[in-house]
Formats: sequence, structure tokens, C-alpha cells
Amino acid sequence: VIMLGIETSCDDTAAAVVRGNGDILSQVVSSQADLLSRYGGVAPKMAEEAHSLVIDQVVQRALDDAKLTGNDLSAVAVTIGPGLSLCLRVGVQKARRLAGVFNLPIVGVHHMEAHALVARLIERNLQFPFLALLISGGHNLLILAHKVGHYLQLGTTIDDAIGEAYDKTARWLGLDMRKGGGPALEELALEGDANSINFSIPMRQHKDCNFSYAGLKTQVRLAIESRKISMEHNPISLANLDDRRSRADIAASFQRVAVLHLEERCQRAIEWALKIEPSIKYLVVSGGVASNKYVRARLSHVVENSGLELVCPPPSLCTDNGVMVAWTGIEHFLLGRFDPPPPADEPEDAMFELRPRWPLGEEYSQGKSEAR
Ligand code: ATP
Ligand code: FE
Repeated sequence: VIMLGIETSCDDTAAAVVRGNGDILSQVVSSQADLLSRYGGVAPKMAEEAHSLVIDQVVQRALDDAKLTGNDLSAVAVTIGPGLSLCLRVGVQKARRLAGVFNLPIVGVHHMEAHALVARLIERNLQFPFLALLISGGHNLLILAHKVGHYLQLGTTIDDAIGEAYDKTARWLGLDMRKGGGPALEELALEGDANSINFSIPMRQHKDCNFSYAGLKTQVRLAIESRKISMEHNPISLANLDDRRSRADIAASFQRVAVLHLEERCQRAIEWALKIEPSIKYLVVSGGVASNKYVRARLSHVVENSGLELVCPPPSLCTDNGVMVAWTGIEHFLLGRFDPPPPADEPEDAMFELRPRWPLGEEYSQGKSEAR
């Protein structure tokens, strides 16, 4: 099997070619972070235009780098949700055009399932069932993966995801957002004292596996305001040692508590998961925030102490990428789950399925009663 994967659900345009045995033949990502950093977040219309501008090149490069043409592919996988429908549409249209020309089946992929399943490409011993923590810009999920396409949701966020909290904090601290808020904040936090501010840990009184980051965001904002730190991006003030130190302290303290919340929830999720599926051996941690070194180190402790093994994909496979989409496409394709090729002459305005809101699996209802 040779699968092309296309990803345009948010602000990265990505494509990759992956073989059924897990060989990555090519991997191309075109990021809009630089563009979007100037606008305080993802503006759907602008993101759509940016995807449209590069999608043909990105896919062509993925094929060229793999030294293949559309004729060599077995099928095309594309993210159909969740995400911004304007953006998803760009990827799906491209996938359908290509699949029409080369008469290829299409696999519609769930973006968060792809974040989880890419771990099986990295760790070939990773069998179902396994537990996964998915942490990104829009999601904070703890899921028990039973098999391909079958998930039990142990926890989710009741407001913001951790990546969103990293991004906001970085913006408020006036960091350079061109590389993305998360990486900038992680870097600054290295210089700070993580115990300098006692932010309170979210949701301690709720004995469940859900998350909340809105309250921590507010605490950070108040800390910044009370220290009279300017929230403008200002390289001169960042060069001022006292000011830089003060920002670094906030960054480090935020990160400590944001990640402590993950640690506590994971600990409980491992207990729950082992009760439901005593055979689980792995915790997968994936999604953009999983590329953070501090996050990886702290969670590896939690996992070690519980006797499980941690699988955390390399950073380039944690943030949005085409490989995870291609691989998830392969997992479904091998189970016979795909759509027939679209007609070669499909009109531009043909109808097709997008799933901008698409929950991953069933909610765990037992969790609610155990929470009391
Ligand atoms: P979702 O997967 O929920 O649809 P997304 O696809 O936009 O959201 P990803 O690319 O999976 O998100 O992850 C991006 C998020 O990860 C951003 O919020 C970004 O700040 C965060 N992130 C990336 N690198 C780091 C890092 N080193 N430390 C902390 N956060 C990071
Ligand atoms: Fe993502």
C-alpha cells in the first residue's frame, strides 16, 4: 500500500507519502504561523486563501520527493474534520481532484484520530487497546483506543485546550509568535523560576479526567497586569534583564501548573483505563503540545510510576503533518474502509462530506458517576 495524506484542517498545509510498512517516503509542511502571528489567531478566510495558494505545490512536492506519480498510489487520505470547514474544503477538493484523475479511492480521516494513530507508525509494538492523551491547539482529550475507529473518551476540556493557553500566554508576554506561541514560551520558561508564582491547579475538586484552562489563563493575565508588564511585542523591553526575568518567571510558573494539570489527569485516566482494559501497556501522548520537552519529561515520570510505557512521536509528527493522515488512511484502508474514486470530471461545486465538528468516540458515562 502507498498512501498520500493531505492535511489542511487548521493553519498548516501538509502532505506526505507513506508506505503500508510504515516507511515515510516524503513529508512536506507549509506553515502559516508567520502570517497568522500578525493577526492574533487563525482568521478562517485568510487561512483558506493561504491553503489554496500552496496546496498544489505542497502535494506535488510530496509526490516528487517520494519519486512517485499519482499512478503509483493506492489511495488518497485527507482530513475531513474536525476543523475549519473553509480550510478542510481546500484539502478535500485537492484530494478529490487527484483521486478523480488517477482513479484512486479516498479515505476521509479524523484529525484527532490521526494524532493518536501516528504513534503506531512510530512504535510498531503498540497494540490496541491503549490510552492516549491528545494535546493541541483545539483539543485536550484522554481517550481509550479500543481499535481503529473505536474510541472511548475518558476526558475532554470544559473550556480551552492547553495549546490555546500556551498561545495566549505567549502573546500576552509579548513573545515572537512567528515560530508559534508554544515553542516561544517553552524557550523563555527555561530562564524562569517555575515556583515564583503560585497559580492554582485547575479542577482539583473534580475527581474526573476533564480539563480546564480558562481559569489559568485568567490568572496569568492578572499576574501580567499586576506586574505592569507591557503586553506589546517589544524586543527592547525583552532585552531589559529585569523585565525579561519577570516574564520568564510567569512563563515558567504557567508551564509548571499547566503541565501539573495534565499529570494529575493522566494519573487518574491510567487508573480508570486499567479498570476498563487491564491489558493496556502504553500511554500515547501526541498533538502539537506533545512536542514540548518539559511536557514529555513530566509525563514520562507519570507513566513510569504506573508501570506503563510512554509513546510520544517525534516533534515533527506531533504537530500537524501529512504523515499522520496518510498513516491513519492506511489503517482504515486495510480494513476496507474507504470511498470509491470520484468521477474524473467532477465539477468544482460537487457536494462532498466535511465534518467540522466531529467527536472522537463515545463519552465514558461511568466517569461521571465515579467523579462524585
Ligand atoms: P487541533 O489538533 O486541536 O485541531 P491544531 O491542529 O491547530 O489543533 P496542532 O498543530 O496539533 O494544533 O498543535 C498546535 C498547538 O501546539 C499550538 O497551540 C501550539 O502553540 C502548540 N505547541 C506547539 N509546539 C509547542 C511547544 N513546544 N510547547 C507548547 N505548545 C506547543
Ligand atoms: Fe492538530
